Amino acid sequence: MNIPRTSFPRIVIIGGGFAGIALAKKLSRQEVQVVLLDKHNYHTFQPLLYQVSTGGLEPDSIAYPIRKILKNFPNFHFRLANVKRISTKSNKVKTNIGDLKFDYLVIATGSKTNFFGNESIAANSVEMKSIPQSLNLRSLILENFEEALLKSDLNERNALMNFVIVGAGPTGVELAGALAEIKKGILPKDYPDLDTRSVQINLVQSGDRVLKEMSEQASKKAEDFLEGLGVNVWKNVRVTGYDGKIVTTNSDLTFETATVVWAAGVKGATIRGLDSEKFVSRGNRINTNAYNQVTGFTNIFAVGDVANVITEENPLGYPMMAQPAIQQGKQLGDNLLRLIENKPMIPFDYKDKGSMATVGRNKAVVDLKHFKFQGVFAWFVWMYIHLFFLIGFRNRMIVFINWVYNYVRFDREARLIIRPYKKKLKR
Ligand SMILES: Cc1cc2nc3c(=O)[nH]c(=O)nc-3n(C[C@H](O)[C@H](O)[C@H](O)COP(=O)(O)OP(=O)(O)OC[C@H]3O[C@@H](n4cnc5c(N)ncnc54)[C@H](O)[C@@H]3O)c2cc1C
Repeated sequence: MNIPRTSFPRIVIIGGGFAGIALAKKLSRQEVQVVLLDKHNYHTFQPLLYQVSTGGLEPDSIAYPIRKILKNFPNFHFRLANVKRISTKSNKVKTNIGDLKFDYLVIATGSKTNFFGNESIAANSVEMKSIPQSLNLRSLILENFEEALLKSDLNERNALMNFVIVGAGPTGVELAGALAEIKKGILPKDYPDLDTRSVQINLVQSGDRVLKEMSEQASKKAEDFLEGLGVNVWKNVRVTGYDGKIVTTNSDLTFETATVVWAAGVKGATIRGLDSEKFVSRGNRINTNAYNQVTGFTNIFAVGDVANVITEENPLGYPMMAQPAIQQGKQLGDNLLRLIENKPMIPFDYKDKGSMATVGRNKAVVDLKHFKFQGVFAWFVWMYIHLFFLIGFRNRMIVFINWVYNYVRFDREARLIIRPYKKKLKR
């Protein structure tokens, strides 16, 4: 990989997401060599992917070059590399661009979509975990309307305008709300020849409430918001299959649709070498102790979504969200320096800052530790927090300007089929 060996210990980080970047920043001016490997050359702000999928934001505004985040830091190296395997015996990572030895290894690879072994759903539905996938979904939505215009058969036309989103966590709720706003504000103007009142947005949830990780108050209000926007919320319904045409469920309910978005689960994105049952448990996450040390190792760590940080007080691990990932990355930065200096490490202690989700214009729900609120103020808080955590001044400005423009004009101008998406359907 052409990275010089120095007298400093080498810390290899796999993954430039929230956890990996927070860690690399902590270590940036210390007497260590940091090598960050990622299969993308940019950091993705995943919480706003749904806005890319629905034409509200351009993809560039929620991505940021990793090299730029860590520029000017001595002893920092980035390599665009897909890590294929970890050899714990030889302390090496094996990648598509070669092998690299490490003194300390940090796995910060995040998570991937969990289809729970359902092959028909995996083959025929779309996911929204990355920018390319969000662009696929954006194209698919728009291509469906273009195709619907050409159909004389009512069933075929309706199937193209019928959207099924599986999973009513923040991703499903936010996407359903955005689609409902497009139906109301944009489709009638863009497609005057189409009866866009027939567009159906179905949000299907196996549990008995939406946003089940949030308070009952937030769930109830979010559901009211969704229903007010015309979204069909189906609770206690489990999707069992999708052949590219019909969604089947555990009840008599079926949906004829050309679009299923799977937002019903994620699992840890483990890497071969550390992916066996010995290391991995609940949610395919790598088990660590309170110092993020992978079970059985003193020099291998896992942080963020991929890590199951198990302690007595926290037997189930932390939620797969940005805050635990950022906080773990920062804490591990301190702990690695302590470890190198032979000082005792400090156990990770998560500070829960609350959670939030938006349903649409002026509609959001916020749960803080001592205070829960919903509606317009919550929506402003949601926007402020998301702008604050976006990386890069330019990105913040672009997102802010886009939001103001969209708010004033009731518009989403990035509704472009730049890269047509053909689903690889096994019909
Ligand atoms: C659509 C969506 C909406 C979300 N909304 C919210 C929200 O509103 N609030 C919230 O708190 N959280 C939200 N999350 C969750 C949040 O984004 C994650 O919890 C967070 O990104 C986890 O950070 P991480 O650093 O562990 O992993 P990630 O941010 O996923 O980063 C992992 C990195 O590892 C790289 N990588 C993976 N495998 C390899 C490999 N083999 N080789 C090289 N590189 C690799 C990836 O390219 C990526 O850059 C959302 C997630 C999604 C998908």
